Amino acid sequence: MRDTWPLLKDHDFPTIRRDRVNTLQLNLGYLCNIACLHCHVAAGPNRKELMDLDTMQVALQFAEHFGVRTLDLTGGSPEMNPHFRCLVEQARKLGMHVMDRLNPTIMEEPGYEWVGEFLASHRIEAVASLPCYSRDNVDAQRGNGVFEASIKALQRLNELGYGAPDSGLVLNLVYNPLGPALPPPQQALEADYKRFLFEQFGIRFNSLYTITNMPIKRFGAVLLAKGEFEDYMRLLKDAYQAANLKSVMCRDLISVDYQGYVYDCDFNQMLGLPQGGERRHLRELLDQDQVPKRIAVAGHCYGCTAGQGSSCGGALQE
Ligand code: SF4
Ligand code: SF4
Repeated sequence: MRDTWPLLKDHDFPTIRRDRVNTLQLNLGYLCNIACLHCHVAAGPNRKELMDLDTMQVALQFAEHFGVRTLDLTGGSPEMNPHFRCLVEQARKLGMHVMDRLNPTIMEEPGYEWVGEFLASHRIEAVASLPCYSRDNVDAQRGNGVFEASIKALQRLNELGYGAPDSGLVLNLVYNPLGPALPPPQQALEADYKRFLFEQFGIRFNSLYTITNMPIKRFGAVLLAKGEFEDYMRLLKDAYQAANLKSVMCRDLISVDYQGYVYDCDFNQMLGLPQGGERRHLRELLDQDQVPKRIAVAGHCYGCTAGQGSSCGGALQE
C-alpha cells in the first residue's frame, strides 16, 4: 500500500493551538470484522494491534487528572478489544460520558450478540457508521452484505431504545462520501437519511455526521493508485474555510494509540505524526499541569477545513 505522507508533510496549513481537552479519544486497536475501502486506519480482520488493560488504566488516570469528561472509543471495531467492557464499566463508574464508534455489523457477528444490550445498559452514545442509505453504495465501499447487517443492527438498537425521543439513548450515524468528493450539506442529507431509513426500515436516529474522507492510509493509497491524489488535494484546498480553524477537533481533543502514545487527532495517529511533533506516552503527561498546546499539522488537515468542515462530530458549520 503506497503511503501519502511524503506528499503531505510539506504543507502550508496554518498554525493552530489546543484550547482545553474535553475529549479523550482512545483507539482500542486496528482489529475489525470488515475492511472498508475508505478506512483511514486500514483496519481489518487480520490486524493484531490491541490496547492492553494497563494502558486503559493510564488513560483513565489521565482523564481524572485533567478533568476530561468524555471518552470517545474508536478502532477498528472497539468492541473487539477483549477489555472493552471493563474499560467502559470503569469509565461510567467515574461518571464519564462514553461514546462508542460502532461499526454496526459487529452486532451481527457470532460472539458479539452482547454489544447492543451492553451499550444500552451503560447508556453509551452510539456513533454508527452507515456511509450511505443505498445498499449498492454501502456494499461497494464496505463489502457485500454490510448494508443488510448494518440495517439489522440499527433496528436492534432501536428496539433497545436508541434513537427514541426522551430515551436518553443517543444513536448518531456517520456518512462519508464514496469517492474523492466533499460530503453534501449535513442538514439536508440528515433529513434524507431520516426519511428514507424510517420509511424503508422503520429506523430512527438522532443526528447524521458527515465526514470528509482523509487522503491517508487505505483511502490515500486508492487515490494514488487511481492518479486522483493531486485532484483531491486541490479540491480540499480550494474549499478551505478559515472559519473552520476555530473548531477543528484537535483543539479540544487528544487521541491515544493502542500503545498509549499521544496524538493531536486520530488522523495524525494513523500518519505516525505525534502530538505537537514530539513522541510522548500518556503516562508522561500525568505529572504535568496542562496538556501541551502545540498541534502538529500537515497537508491532510485541509480535510478538516474544507467546505462545511469535518470532524468526528460531523460538519463544523451548517
Ligand atoms: S472504516 Fe470502520 S468499519 Fe470500516 S474497516 Fe475501518 S474501522 Fe472497520
Ligand atoms: S487533521 Fe487532525 S490535526 Fe489536522 S486539523 Fe484535523 S483534527 Fe487538527
